[in-house]
Order: sequence, then C-alpha cells, then structure tokens
Amino acid sequence: MLRGFQIRTNSLLRLKEVLPDSTLDRLLASSRGCQVRSLAASAAAQPKVQDGQKSSQNKKKLDSNLGESKSFGLNLFRGQISADQVFPFPEVLTPDQRQELQELVDPTAKFFEEVNDAGKNDTLEKVEDHSMQGLREMGAFGLQVPQDLGGLGLTNTQYARLVEVVGAHDLGVGITLGAHQSIGFKGILLFGNPEQKEKYLPRVASGEDMAAFCLTEPASGSDASSIRTRAVPSADGSHYVLNGSKIWISNGGLAEVFTVFAQCPVTDEKTGETKDKVTAFIVERKFGGVSSGPPEKKMGIKASNTAEVYFEDVKVPAENVLGGVGGGFKVAMNILNNGRFGMAAALSGTMRSCISKAVDHAANRTQFGMKIETYGAIQEKIARMTMMHYVTEVLSFNF
Ligand SMILES: Cc1cc2nc3c(=O)[nH]c(=O)nc-3n(C[C@H](O)[C@H](O)[C@H](O)COP(=O)(O)OP(=O)(O)OC[C@H]3O[C@@H](n4cnc5c(N)ncnc54)[C@H](O)[C@@H]3O)c2cc1C
Repeated sequence: MLRGFQIRTNSLLRLKEVLPDSTLDRLLASSRGCQVRSLAASAAAQPKVQDGQKSSQNKKKLDSNLGESKSFGLNLFRGQISADQVFPFPEVLTPDQRQELQELVDPTAKFFEEVNDAGKNDTLEKVEDHSMQGLREMGAFGLQVPQDLGGLGLTNTQYARLVEVVGAHDLGVGITLGAHQSIGFKGILLFGNPEQKEKYLPRVASGEDMAAFCLTEPASGSDASSIRTRAVPSADGSHYVLNGSKIWISNGGLAEVFTVFAQCPVTDEKTGETKDKVTAFIVERKFGGVSSGPPEKKMGIKASNTAEVYFEDVKVPAENVLGGVGGGFKVAMNILNNGRFGMAAALSGTMRSCISKAVDHAANRTQFGMKIETYGAIQEKIARMTMMHYVTEVLSFNF
C-alpha cells in the first residue's frame, strides 16, 4: 500500500517536473485532480509493479468495500493523493472567522504568559484555581459549543489554532481542556438529542461542570469493544443500573458529567436473540454511586487529573442513553476520530515551543569556542525536530 503511494507520489513529482506550473494547475483545477490521479496511476502501472497483481486485487476489493472517501488521510493510506484538496492550499476560514480567531489568539497567549503558571501547576499536580476561573471567563471550556447554548461556536480550524497556543504554554491545561471538550462532552455535541444538548451543553460550556470520557478499563484499552462495565435496564424501563470501573480517565476526579460506555443487553427483533452491545450513557456524579480514585502519579502533564472512576449501582435515566441503545461503539469511535486533531494541534504547539527553546539555547551556548548551533550534529537535531513538527502541524490542520 505504501509502495503504491510512493510510486504515485513519484509520478506526481515527475509530472510537476515535466509540466509547466500553469498546466499542472489547470489540470488540477479542471479535473478536481482526477486526471492527474489517473495519469499518476497509469505511470504507476508501468512494469515496476509486477509483484502487485494479487495485492492490487486485494486493494480493489478493499477500495470497493470502503467506497469513495473524501478523507485526505484515508486516501493516502489507499495510495491515492486527492490533490484537489491541497493544491491550491484551501482557505478554510472566512475573513470574519479569521478576524474572530485573531481576537482570541492574542488574549489567550497573554493569559498564559501573565496569569497561568505552568511550572506551579506542574509542581502542585493540578491547575491552580485562579487559572481555571480565568479560563472559564475566557470561554475556554466551550470553544465549539454553539453560541445559543453558551459556547463560542468555533470551527475545527479555529479550535485547533487556539489549542495550539494552549499546548505551547502548558500541556497540562491543554489535556484538562481537551479531555473536557474534545472527548468528555463531544458525544453530546455529536449525538445528543435536542433535550440532552439543552440540558448539558450550557453547563459544560461555561465550565460550571467538568466533563470526562470513560471508555478504558483494566482489561480493555485499544480493544475498546471488550469493555465489561454493564448497564441493565430496570423492569419498568425508566432507567438503567450501571456497574463497573474505568481507569486512566482524564478529569476523572474532577468531572460532574461523564460519557460512559457500557455493555447493555440488546434483543434482535428478527431472531429474538439477546446479545450485549456497547451503549453510551450520560452519567452525572450526583446520580449517586459514582466515585473516583486519587490522581495518578505521572511523568508529565502532571497538572491534568487522571483517575479511576467507579460506578456502583448507578441509576441512569433511560433518556440519558446517547446515540441509541447498542450504538455506543460507533459513538466512541466518532468521538475519538472527531477529537483526535485537537491532541495533534496541542502537541504541535508544545513542539513549536520546545524547538524555540532549543534554538535559543543552541544560538547562545558556546563550547570549544563556537556556538553549538554551528555544529552539524546540533543542526541535524534541530532540522529533525522541525520536520517532525511540520508533519504534526500538517496532520492537525489538514485531516
Ligand atoms: C494520560 C492518559 C490519559 C488518558 N485518558 C483517558 C480518558 O480520558 N478516557 C479513556 O477512556 N481512556 C483514557 N486513557 C487510556 C487510553 O485511551 C489507553 O491507554 C489506550 O486506549 C490504549 O490502551 P492501553 O494503554 O490499555 O494499551 P493496550 O491496548 O494494552 O496496548 C499496548 C500496546 O500494544 C499495542 N497494540 C494493541 N493492540 C494492537 C494490535 N492489534 N496491533 C498492534 N499493536 C497493538 C498498542 O498500540 C500499544 O502500544 C488515558 C491514558 C493516558 C496514559
């Protein structure tokens, strides 16, 4: 697959060498990239690819199973470049959105330079109370919640840019805010019905209530569908009784609102067979039976709270099922897919900040009578860091 991608990339690069820029641009613009892709594909189909008959059959089968995709990232893994998505580089913000973003970026950076103390948060292993309050006042807890529900209603790009600023200054705060909105209440934003949105989003957007995402369990990490937490419907159908425990939950010790994934018995209408299926629930700490463990001791991002969360005979109202009974796995994967770019954006900010400190040190540190920035080994390290940062930034803003 990667070989196919490499061949096609080379073909595109070859096209770029042989065609004048204007012709290539015209091709891309007129065909939305298809002609170039097919040219690249026919170039790729030259004798070099003899080993690929079986794998190309497999790829065709996979492609037909997956269908057409608009995802640039997914297409890369299929060996296709959707060039029309990147040439010319897309302008995703309107002038008003750009202006709005700029008006948020500067005060956010100022807040982190003048109010938040990353070192102190790290030592205390919590975000200081006055910082949390300042973040609430800036609207940082509801960046993507629609304005009519109390948030700032930012687009993904605007969100990513702000999160980048946070990650550049204090990743502990970045994880606290990210776990809250990128995953904690993202399910309500994506799958909540109007009543659920109305009830919960204003509370979490204001930061009055913190939110957490509860999927991972002692025996269930990457294999998320193997969770054992269970929710059993009551005889009258009014509520579910939730039992189980979760580990490594960001904001687990602080949250009032949890998106919890549990196995739930579902009966197939056609066969009459009952099977456990993952279901998502909105759970409030105040329902009773919800408790959390002490904060985990971590090597980094110490200011972010990570804790175990326990559910013991928690009565969850039936109307708090999120995304339908049995639809929880889809809810979980959509939240994670949807929230993932936030993590990349925050880390992109952290990387930029680290590179800036490294460059500053290299430019000022003298050894053997020379600034260390003049040594090849140091230059290579900084070049490599810059390259990795570029890739991270591209991943967070282009996918
Ligand atoms: C700081 C922190 C915060 C977290 N916050 C949350 C949170 O808020 N909510 C939440 O639900 N969870 C949270 N988690 C848990 C996190 O989502 C899990 O760590 C993650 O799902 C991976 O699970 P695991 O650690 O059990 O690793 P495992 O699933 O046991 O995997 C161990 C290793 O095996 C590899 N591996 C697993 N399966 C395969 C495979 N099929 N093929 C190849 N390699 C494989 C993995 O890539 C990994 O390298 C957090 C974790 C940390 C460290």
